[in-house]
Amino acid sequence: MAKETGLAHVASGDIFREAAASGSELGLLAKSYMDRGELVPDDVTIRMVLERISRPDCAKGVILDGFPRTVEQAVALDAALAEMGKAIGKVLYIKVSTEELLRRLSGRWICRQCQTPYHMVSAPPQVVGKCDRCGGELYQRADDTIETARNRLGVYFRQTAPLIGYYERAGKLLEVNGEQDVEVVGREMLATLVRS
Ligand code: AMP
Repeated sequence: MAKETGLAHVASGDIFREAAASGSELGLLAKSYMDRGELVPDDVTIRMVLERISRPDCAKGVILDGFPRTVEQAVALDAALAEMGKAIGKVLYIKVSTEELLRRLSGRWICRQCQTPYHMVSAPPQVVGKCDRCGGELYQRADDTIETARNRLGVYFRQTAPLIGYYERAGKLLEVNGEQDVEVVGREMLATLVRS
């Protein structure tokens, strides 16, 4: 979507994984939450994402991925954007059942270099352990084990699901059926955004 729209892609999970890999104090703090499938505290998360979107490559606009995940983060984001004379345009709600989410997460492998995701059963790479796009090494995220994935979904229902109502009331929510094939979901996300 970032490529199609020419906007920057900012994924809070990627920011935390990079920080954890660098071994910084903040990164290790984030990792202790990520490994358990819990959310990183709001103050740390808000600070990191706001710093990221203040950089020049985000001036034209941003596709936020994985943020906000709590009402507190959404309120802080709205306030920070208002100060910059900006606002959230639209919010895509990709609706997928709990069973399908668990199936996808527990079979997911990701390229270390380009982040392309694969699924062991439904979308395997041509060569085991290697990315079709760039030849990079594939790995399984530590928090994609079935137990941690289950906990992450519990956290989602408690802390993130209230955002559906938050953005619906703001007239910004667009729903897409995420149970379909990845290409179809991608196409529908773009078409829904363009139509809105
Ligand atoms: P993701 O790659 O979006 O699935 O995020 C992986 C993990 O990073 C999450 O399970 C959280 O521990 C942490 N994380 C990512 N985004 C946020 C956020 N907006 N708020 C709090 N924690 C987050």
